[in-house]
Amino acid sequence: MLEDIIKAEIDKKDIISVDQFMEYALFHPDYGYYTKKDPIGRAGDFTTAPEISQIFGELIGAWLAYCWQEMGAPPDTKLIELGPGHGTLMHDILRATRNIPSFHDSIRVCMVETSPTLRRLQQQKLQYSHPLIKWFDDINNIEESPSLIVANELFDALPTKQFVKTGQIYKERGVIYNKDGFAFSLYNEPVADKRIEKLLAQEPYCHLSESSIVEISLASIDMMRSLSKRMLSHKGVGLLIDYGYALNPAMKKTSETLQAVRQHQFSNVLEHVGECDLTTHVNFSLLATIAEQEGAKSSPSLEQGTFLKAMGIDIRGEILCKNLLEETQKDDIIKGIYRLTDPSEMGNIFKAMSFYSPILPMPTIFREFFHDC
Ligand code: SAH
Repeated sequence: MLEDIIKAEIDKKDIISVDQFMEYALFHPDYGYYTKKDPIGRAGDFTTAPEISQIFGELIGAWLAYCWQEMGAPPDTKLIELGPGHGTLMHDILRATRNIPSFHDSIRVCMVETSPTLRRLQQQKLQYSHPLIKWFDDINNIEESPSLIVANELFDALPTKQFVKTGQIYKERGVIYNKDGFAFSLYNEPVADKRIEKLLAQEPYCHLSESSIVEISLASIDMMRSLSKRMLSHKGVGLLIDYGYALNPAMKKTSETLQAVRQHQFSNVLEHVGECDLTTHVNFSLLATIAEQEGAKSSPSLEQGTFLKAMGIDIRGEILCKNLLEETQKDDIIKGIYRLTDPSEMGNIFKAMSFYSPILPMPTIFREFFHDC
């Protein structure tokens, strides 16, 4: 069904862009992957950090509450989570911060979620945790106020365009279909979007070698602009965690990172449309540039393992283990910490990046690793 809808669109235009294809596959209002499916957990397609260990949300809660105190503990703060999945991260944030004086009385929890299926799960999980939790489709519908913002594995799900270096220029990559199904192809016309042209003229893109693939997500750029603007009218701090990379201006070649995952296995991006999670690695350098362009500040990204260790994940694990009687439960805690922090697991490929109001210092942990500039 979804395949027929996409084919009809290709019939009209001959080719559709990779981000349009992703938009259909992930977010079509009736048949999109996120619209109809609960993708997270053992029975789904992938597992995320908050589902691996409760400590992940506890430490992020502690970090957010500390930032709130550094903002001067404003009494009308919005605690905003984008793309909350099962609601586990917010559940653990709220549980871990309930004894911090005045914090719960000062926050309004705002969940930004586009999937009706996941929104229902979040409502079931959170209805007793905190009064007055509200759900939104779009961050731009949340009234301006002091803000604490968190997003784990949101940006990797936002649709991305792809461009292929062909001779001296870039051509946009798109999706067509033939007798064997969907296939990648290149647009004939050169790139016309001024925003993209400007980006592709910068380092490292301007000197990349033949057949390099560059991924640019306009959806991520728009999202980052909205988040950054919130940092200007009132005090605010945000934390983004995702698998991704920082750009090196000297790099000579880039490849695609677009991938499909289905039932915890890699799958073909163009097959089982609407049944697989499609993601790309997040370009943290670009997000930081957007934040700065809007007048907000941003930190460099820090490996997830480094961030969680600096937040005391090992000590928290020891305390939890001391209070547990069953060896299997202790084992789960230790394995969870290993998975979140070890470089061979999620410790290095996942990164944390903060952004914040220009009148605030760089947030804790980040300022201990990077010069406050
Ligand atoms: N943060 C969760 C879930 C990650 S999966 C966790 O760590 O477990 C990605 C989440 O982002 C899903 O909840 C998905 O429905 C949501 N999402 C995708 N695009 C979105 C958008 N534009 N705005 C808000 N939520 C979005």
